[in-house]
Amino acid sequence: MKYTKYALLRRAYTLLENSTPLKYDCGKLCEGACCRADTIRAESDAGMMLLPYEDVLIGGCEEFEIKDTSDGKILTCSGTCERIFRPFMCRIFPYYARIDEETGRISLRVDPRAANICPIATKKKRTRHSVYFHRNALRAVRILMHDEDFKKELIKTSNFCDGLYEMYRTLI
Ligand code: SF4
Ligand code: SF4
Repeated sequence: MKYTKYALLRRAYTLLENSTPLKYDCGKLCEGACCRADTIRAESDAGMMLLPYEDVLIGGCEEFEIKDTSDGKILTCSGTCERIFRPFMCRIFPYYARIDEETGRISLRVDPRAANICPIATKKKRTRHSVYFHRNALRAVRILMHDEDFKKELIKTSNFCDGLYEMYRTLI
């Protein structure tokens, strides 16, 4: 393997350290809804799936609880964290990386779990996403795809979110 997991994750994190979905702090639109206990995390109590090895990289943050599950490691938080410790899935929220396994095409798509809480997902005014963020998020995903374990996890998340869209469609 050319790069270690640590090196790939560090590169991906760095790309998304200062680039955020909007050109301004989107938390001002919703008082940080995606981190608040009364919204997404309370609804599902599911927490965030971590990529392999991410627990080692961010395990130093006292606000996190990391659990082993049959599906992999899951992080729950208290609703605050130091910016440098944000896991990858939080860095690209409210999007997920949609991976077309046939063509290899990678795109950013609104995470269906963001639909009820995120003004960006519902395309409210002043929420045109930053081109800089979009480009960096895609670059970060492509970097992670160099590692087979990350690739597997990203494809799993992509399929899961695609599946949720499919399920919502059948319910409408
Ligand atoms: S819910 Fe959406 S708009 Fe609000 S802080 Fe999270 S990503 Fe930003
Ligand atoms: S880990 Fe940090 S960024 Fe992610 S939901 Fe918790 S407080 Fe928000």
